[in-house]
Amino acid sequence: MSYVFAAPPQPVVPVAGSTDLYPVHRIYCVGRNYEEHAKEMGFSGREAPFFFTKPADAVLPVPEGTTGEMPYPSETSNLHHEIELVVAIGKRGKRIAATEAPNYIWGYAVGLDMTRRDLQGEAKKLGRPWEVGKSFDCSAPIGPIKPIAQTGQIRSGRIWLNVNGETRQASDVSKLIWNVAETIEHLSKYFELAPGDLIFTGTPEGVAAVKPGDLLEGGVDGVGTLRVRIR
Ligand code: MN
Repeated sequence: MSYVFAAPPQPVVPVAGSTDLYPVHRIYCVGRNYEEHAKEMGFSGREAPFFFTKPADAVLPVPEGTTGEMPYPSETSNLHHEIELVVAIGKRGKRIAATEAPNYIWGYAVGLDMTRRDLQGEAKKLGRPWEVGKSFDCSAPIGPIKPIAQTGQIRSGRIWLNVNGETRQASDVSKLIWNVAETIEHLSKYFELAPGDLIFTGTPEGVAAVKPGDLLEGGVDGVGTLRVRIR
């Protein structure tokens, strides 16, 4: 027995300070997990956050000290940045209690949940799924994963994004509505988490459009930074 064509390559994310690679299994994302971002999207900020996904091969890995190149996606004229703390899972589990959640974390990274906002808005209006707005190729630029053994648990710290040197997003991870442990508790009720799963934990306020040529530079204190050029 053999594959009928070459098996697709395994999506990977580099590990910080190492030549090791973290193989990606699934990408989960949390929607409206910062109150001020929920408000800027037209909601009260008091609703519970929720989940959506991207395909594993939507990652655009950006090795340490380099600038990622993200192609401007098709069929949009309103590509938005969303800077996010990303959690990398290292252990299989379901119905994980928040108190146990840290044992399931392999590490953290800085990611961008890039969004075709016009297509997402249309889908929302029509009650349709979000895939065309959220789950396109290269929609998940991500920096190196730093092991939790080096970072400790990330419960607070500045999260920020500059575009062409100007601050667009600036908040603190402590403002997450569901913190990382609570996010793992909620998510693992619905899905069995596995090594290789990435969780984009949500974006703070200040999301806005980018255009070809723009340089996005962001970071999370204690985790790292991420640089991406739109082309
Ligand atoms: Mn997001």
